[in-house]
Amino acid sequence: MLPDGRRIGAHLPLGQGMVRAVERAHAIGLDTLQIFSDNPTAWHRRAEPPKELPAFRARIVELGMGPIAIHGAYLINLAGSDSTLVERSGAMLATELRVAPAFGARFVNVHLGSHRGTDRATGTARLAGEVARVLADVDDGPDAARLVLENSAGSGDGLGSSLEEIAGVVDALAERGVPAARVGICLDTAHLWGAGYAISDPAEVDRVVVEFDRLIGLDRLAMIHFNDSRAALGSNADRHEHVGAGSIGAAGMRAVLTHPGLSHATYYLETPGMDEGYDAINAARVLDLAAGRPLADLPAEAKEVKGSRSRTHPAPDPETTDEPATDSRGRPRKP
Ligand SMILES: [Zn+2]
Ligand SMILES: [Zn+2]
Repeated sequence: MLPDGRRIGAHLPLGQGMVRAVERAHAIGLDTLQIFSDNPTAWHRRAEPPKELPAFRARIVELGMGPIAIHGAYLINLAGSDSTLVERSGAMLATELRVAPAFGARFVNVHLGSHRGTDRATGTARLAGEVARVLADVDDGPDAARLVLENSAGSGDGLGSSLEEIAGVVDALAERGVPAARVGICLDTAHLWGAGYAISDPAEVDRVVVEFDRLIGLDRLAMIHFNDSRAALGSNADRHEHVGAGSIGAAGMRAVLTHPGLSHATYYLETPGMDEGYDAINAARVLDLAAGRPLADLPAEAKEVKGSRSRTHPAPDPETTDEPATDSRGRPRKP
């Protein structure tokens, strides 16, 4: 936790054990974690909850960790043009929301999605209609998780690469009577950068915060994915980098980390090499940034972190990857 109470977490793999992931997060000074509830690249969902789930939840409570976030399956696209896939996505999202309380999760985070060759207005209407339908179908008790929609870098037909587009989605949800309390927003800093927000400059961070508040309302900002980027500004590319070691850099990342307007949001690292020791390195870099300390040089091999180098998002947990990964159209992914 930062001195101002700001909470910091990371997306940690569960493949080595769920309780072990909680212990690891705690040991490296984090306050919470983001996880996958199941294989994020398959439509198939496990029939039974993981055996370690009660122990996981108990340890989270004991250590005062939270708010826990579930990153929804990557296949979920509520904005698409294929109604079968949109329905399947809605059912998958409903499953994520329904299992969230068993994980002690307060947030279920999904990407805003892609309109898949229609247009932004059509995609926005699809997304809002589907979210309204799913939320009407999922219990809203005191343990219910909040759906958190994440900005995109703008590749393909991705919705939500600008604050104006996110505001359009928020307005479309309000028109459908979706309570504001049930849907929050996640800003991924690497996606902001890919979308053309020059947040390497603290003045631009200020401007983004002011604009977010004007267009959407800062009370809707629930999560920040705190990633540096190895993509070019405005390239629409989404390539995560170690904190302060990418094209956003230390000054911009520090401005996001310490901005008074963002202190109510929870920060989650989605940086490379989480299972190779870089979880601790990036957690330490966050604390150094917050304290105004200069960042240490990364180990020389940091650019060569296996497995994460070409990935744009957290990798599936090995134990949950029990069937061939498919892309969002259900076709096998190319390696
Ligand atoms: Zn993200
Ligand atoms: Zn990303």
